[in-house]
Amino acid sequence: MILANARLPDGNFADVEIGGGLIAALHAPGGADGSGERIDLAGALLLPAFVDGHIHLDKTHWGAPRLPHVEGRVVRERIAAERAQRHSVALSVEARASALIRTLIANGTTSVRSHVDIDNDIGLANLEAVLKVREAFRDWIDIQLVAFPQSGVTTEKGASDLIASALIAGADLIGGLDPAGFDNDVKGQLDIVFGLAEALGKGIDIHLHDGGETGAAELRDIAARTIAAGLHGRVAVSHAFALGSISSDLFAKTAEALARAEIAIMTSCPPSAPVPPVKALRERGVTVFAGSDNIRDCWSPFGNGDMLDRAAIIAQRHEMLTDSELEQAFALVTSEADQALGRPHREVRAGAVADLVAVDAASVADAVVDRPPRRLVIRAGRIAAERGVASGALASIEHPRAD
Ligand SMILES: [Zn+2]
Repeated sequence: MILANARLPDGNFADVEIGGGLIAALHAPGGADGSGERIDLAGALLLPAFVDGHIHLDKTHWGAPRLPHVEGRVVRERIAAERAQRHSVALSVEARASALIRTLIANGTTSVRSHVDIDNDIGLANLEAVLKVREAFRDWIDIQLVAFPQSGVTTEKGASDLIASALIAGADLIGGLDPAGFDNDVKGQLDIVFGLAEALGKGIDIHLHDGGETGAAELRDIAARTIAAGLHGRVAVSHAFALGSISSDLFAKTAEALARAEIAIMTSCPPSAPVPPVKALRERGVTVFAGSDNIRDCWSPFGNGDMLDRAAIIAQRHEMLTDSELEQAFALVTSEADQALGRPHREVRAGAVADLVAVDAASVADAVVDRPPRRLVIRAGRIAAERGVASGALASIEHPRAD
C-alpha cells in the first residue's frame, strides 16, 4: 500500500510505503511506485495512531441506553452505587466493550490499557468477558488488562487470591486502589500488590485518588518499593491527584522519587480535581501519559474515547498553548503512552509498525486544537476505519457471546 502525498509530523511531505504491517519506506512525493493499493492523502497529516492509557472496558455502557447517573460524593459511595447498578445494564460486557472498541479504533486508537473489576460479587466474570473481546479484536487493537480490585485489597476478603487468579487467566498487570483512603492499610495493600508483582513477574498500575501529603507519601512509598523490587519502568500510578495539591518542596521530593523509580503517571485530567502538573513532572523526568478513564458508565455519564480530545483537554487545563507545548500534549496520547505501556513506539518512520491516522490538519499542534475527523485509520498496514466508520473487516467482527 502507498499513502501518497502525506504530510508528516515534521512538516515534510512523503509517499509512505507500507508492507508486512510496517512502514517499509518513506519516498519523496511521486517517488513511490508499486502495484499495490494507492491512496492519495492530498496533503493530509499522517500521525502515529493513538494510545488510551486508562479505560474501563467492562464498566462502559457504550452501545446500551444511558442509565441515569446515581450520585456518590466519595469513592466508597460510588463503588456501592456501581455494585447495585451493574446488573441492570442492558447489554453484556462483551457487547458493550466491543462497541466501545470499534469506536476507539474509528477515533484512531490502536492500543489501550483497560482496568477490569475484580471483586467477590463478579469474581473473574468481567475479566473473562474482556479476554474474549481482546481475542476477537486482536488484529485491530492491542489491549493490556489490569486486574483491578475496585472494592479494595485488604477490605475485600479474598482479593489477593482473585488478583492472582486474574493474572493466571490472562490479565497483564496488577491494580490497586487508594491504600490509605480506601483500605486504610497502606502497608497491607502495597505488601500484597508488590508481593504478587514480584512472585508473578508482572507490572503494576494503581488508582491513587488520595490527596495531599497522604497521597504524596504513598507515591514515595510506591517508588521505594518499585526500586527494591527491581520494577523500574513497570509501575504506573493513575490519577495521583496528590501531586496537584502539595507544596513545591514536597512536590520536588516526590517527583524526584518517581523519576528515579521510572514510575509513569497517568492523567485523565478531570475538570474538578487537583490534577498532577504535567509540565512540571515532565521537566523533572517523569513520564506522563493520558487516558479517557470512565466512558459513559456509573462513574461518569461523559466520555467519547477520542484521544485528540483528551490531548486538547490536558493542554487547556495546563495552559500548554505554544506549538511545542501542544506537541507535548499530543505525546501524552502517543509516544509517552507507548513508553508507559512498554510498547514499541508508534511513529511515522521507516521500520515502525504501520499504525497510523490521517487527518486534515497542517501540523500536530493544529490537530490538537482542531480535533479534525479521522480521515483514515491504519492498523498494522490494513485499513481499520475511514471517515469515522469501521472498515468491512473490522465491522464484520461480531462481539463474543456472554456465557
Ligand atoms: Zn480508572
